[in-house]
This record gives sequence, structure tokens and C-alpha cells, in this order.
Amino acid sequence: MSNGFIISAYILSSILFILSLGGLSNQETARRGNIYGIIGMAIAIVATLMSDEVGNYALIIIPMLIGGAVGAYFASRVEMTAMPELVAILHSFVGLAAVLVGFATYVDPDIHFAGVEKTIHDVEIYLGILIGAVTFTGSVIAFGKLRGTIGSKPLTLPGRHWINLGILILCIFLGKVFINTDSIAGGMAPLLIMTLLAFAFGVHMVMAIGGADMPVVISMLNSYSGWAAAATGFMLSNDLLIVVGALVGSSGAILSYIMCRAMNRKFVSVIMGGFGSTSSVAGSGNEAQGEVVPISAEDTAELLGDIDSLVIVPGYGMAVAHAQHPVSELTRKLRDKGVKVLFAIHPVAGRMPGHMNVLLAEAKVPYDIVLEMDEINDDFPQTDAVMVIGANDIVNPSAIDEPDSPIAGMPVLEVWNARTVIVMKRSMASGYAGVENPLFYKENTRMLFGDAKESMETIISNL
Ligand code: NDP
Repeated sequence: MSNGFIISAYILSSILFILSLGGLSNQETARRGNIYGIIGMAIAIVATLMSDEVGNYALIIIPMLIGGAVGAYFASRVEMTAMPELVAILHSFVGLAAVLVGFATYVDPDIHFAGVEKTIHDVEIYLGILIGAVTFTGSVIAFGKLRGTIGSKPLTLPGRHWINLGILILCIFLGKVFINTDSIAGGMAPLLIMTLLAFAFGVHMVMAIGGADMPVVISMLNSYSGWAAAATGFMLSNDLLIVVGALVGSSGAILSYIMCRAMNRKFVSVIMGGFGSTSSVAGSGNEAQGEVVPISAEDTAELLGDIDSLVIVPGYGMAVAHAQHPVSELTRKLRDKGVKVLFAIHPVAGRMPGHMNVLLAEAKVPYDIVLEMDEINDDFPQTDAVMVIGANDIVNPSAIDEPDSPIAGMPVLEVWNARTVIVMKRSMASGYAGVENPLFYKENTRMLFGDAKESMETIISNL
């Protein structure tokens, strides 16, 4: 296949990937964005297979079929709540692939560079392996933490920042030795030692980060996996891999930034770790603060029969209870009766960005009534009722009222400004950040205890 044809195919794929990212930024165009991505990837794979450098098709297609089948099996079975785990383990594969490709390229007897070109090639190999190794072990630990196989408490070793600095200095030193070595045998030792150090760094970095920050870490590792792929692209002189790696690397970094901003956390402090330990979230705001007024599902139905406007705030608990379909049904019923129903989506509701939007889209809630936090926060004082469905941290007033609270400064949905707030959850347990929520004790709050789906079904049958 001519080189020109392959370059054209790669350019087409790159355009499709950019269109895909653009599509994914909006709920209404997300499906189209996905399709662009699938077509772009299919073109990229076919074009790569048709290049002159590919000789043994069986060696490529058989593992592709096995890997594809395993991937399709697991992806089709994964629960929505376990999606971040799946993403984490997939990033680890990208990291490991970058490490293996790096070593394979280094020992490839057909690659001969000299002078500046050799130095550049060596730097590409070194960086590709370094970033890939950190991504690999970091993602495996993130996967274990999200799954609960590894405790979510941050591991704060004494002098941990010094350990990290020591590893960094050693890696720079080994890089110098590696680049200045002429023989493959001579370069192998610094390369191997650096890989082991990078593996250890990935483990240490993510072990030091608490469970509450894990989704940010996943997004950060997503970014790393992109840069590892870009470095591999340079190594293999594959332009498409460079473009795709840069797209993944920068979009992951932007997403990490957006998540940190929505949680009022500094990116550097997330990476430095230590947040999310029991000790850091205990204390302020964790004392009982008055009386709780429970309400039954039947009384909630009666209350809903007497309102003109309702805002629904979904959170992680709605995902756990799979309550999105009854929520959608309730919305339809109330809208049919002339009630103005809106949804308020906090940027970090649930356990991954866009979590709630995906669930609501799945339950066919119309897009135009699903609003972002900034679009709706000022409307609460004019709202008759708010239903908080399995959400907790994102509606916690202590983020505004208590400067000492671990979530102080995090922007929240100010639901307490509405006339009545109904909070649906199973108990008085705290949310992901482990902080007590004064909303539950406010005069205009009613607690509807129980599984969100069951409560919702009872409300619907009583409406
Ligand atoms: P929270 O984790 O704060 O609260 C969820 C609540 O749901 C719990 O208090 C729980 O209470 C309730 N719940 C659980 N299961 C059920 C059920 N079956 N029926 C009814 N209720 C249930 O979730 P939020 O969505 O409010 O906040 C998200 C949190 O995750 C924030 O702290 C955010 O910072 C963090 N986070 C999110 C990220 C993202 O990208 N979305 C990224 C990083 C962090 P109970 O046990 O009493 O039922």
C-alpha cells in the first residue's frame, strides 16, 4: 500500500477523532461522537495493517481477535458504577504496551541511528517507557482502590515527597547514562533500573492518594497514557499515534483540571496525596446537628401532587439503586400534570464526569430539562420542591458555611433555598467525602429513607 494512501487514511482518522471528542462534549451529540471514534479507529487499524512494514498477519490478527473478544465480553458486562475501574485497568494496558514497545524498539536490530538522531530516538524510548511504567502500576493500584481490594486510605510514608524526589533524580541520572551509552547491552541496565523505579513510583504515587480523589487520578492517568502513546508514536515514527496520544493526553489533563475545580481542590495537592484519610475527614461538621424529620413515600406523593415546580438532584445513590427509570417515569407523570420539572447536575455528581447525564439519557429524560449547576443554582429560591436522589456531598451546605470543613469551598447545589427539600437515601450515612451533612437537619428538609428505586416506585404508584 502506498505511503500517500496511508498518510491520507491517518489524516482522516485524526479528523474523525477530533470530531469524536467534540461530539462527546455534549449529551445530544455523544452518540454521534462515539460513532466517529469507532470509524476513525477502524480506518486507523486497517491502514496500519496495510502498511508495508506489516508482514505476518496471523501474528497480529489472532491476538487482536482474542483481545477484542475479551474486551467486548468485559465491557458488555460492566456495571455503570464499575465504569471507572474498567477505565483504570484499560489505562494500565496502554502503559504496559508503551513499556513493551519501548523495549522492543530498543532491541530492534533493524533500527540504526547515529549522532543527534540516535539521541532523539533514545530520549523517545526512555520517556515512553518511563511514562508507560508509571501509568501501568499507577492504574493497577487505582483499579485495586476503586474495587476495594486495596484500602482507600492514603498511604503516607514518612518522607514520601523525598522518596519521590529521590526517584526523579535517579531517573534523570539513569537517562543521562542511557543516552550516552553506545551499545544496546550497555544501555539495558539503566533502562531496566529506571523501569523498576518508575513501576515503584506509580505504586507509591497512587497509594498516597485517598479514595475520594481516585476519579481525578484516573483522569490524570488517562492523560499519562496519552503522553505514553504519543512518545511511542515518536519512537515508531507513527504520526497517527502522536496525534491520538496528544489528544488523549491533553483532554485527560483538561478533565483532571475541571474535576479539581469542581471539587475546589488544587491539582498539585491531589497528586501530593494524603486527602481522603479517615482522620482528615473526621472532626469538623461531623457532629449531629439537630432533629431529622422523616417522610414516607406516600406523603411525598401527596406533597408532589401540590407543587408547580420541582428540581431533581441525582447523585451516586441513584446510580447504585438503578433508580433512573422510575425517576424518568415520575418526571413524565408530573410534566403531564403541568409541573415544571428540571434536573440539576453537579459536575462531580456520581463517580465520574458525566455519570448522571449518561444515566438520565439512558432513561430517556429530555436533554433540555437537564441543567448544569451554574445554570440552576439561582433558581432554587423560586422552586417549590427539590428531590435529592442518592446525592450527599454535592448538596452539603457546610461547603459554604463551615470554613474548616474538608469540603469547604467546593461549589454545591444550594437546594436548601427551595421551599421543601426531600432527601432520598437509606440512612444518615455520609457521602464519599465522609462529611456530615447539615442539610438533613434543616427545617425545610424531609428525609425519605430507603432504597431510592423502591421509594420512587412507591411514590409513583401513589401519585
Ligand atoms: P455521595 O457519595 O456524596 O453520596 C451518595 C449517597 O447516596 C450516600 O450518602 C448514600 O447514602 C446514598 N445511597 C447509596 N446507595 C443508595 C441507594 N441504593 N438508595 C438511595 N441512596 C443511596 O454522592 P454525590 O453524588 O452527592 O457526590 C459525589 C462525590 O464523589 C463527591 O464527594 C465528589 O467529590 C466525589 N467524586 C466524584 C467524581 C466525579 O467525577 N463524579 C470525581 C471525584 C470525586 P446511604 O448510604 O445512607 O443510602
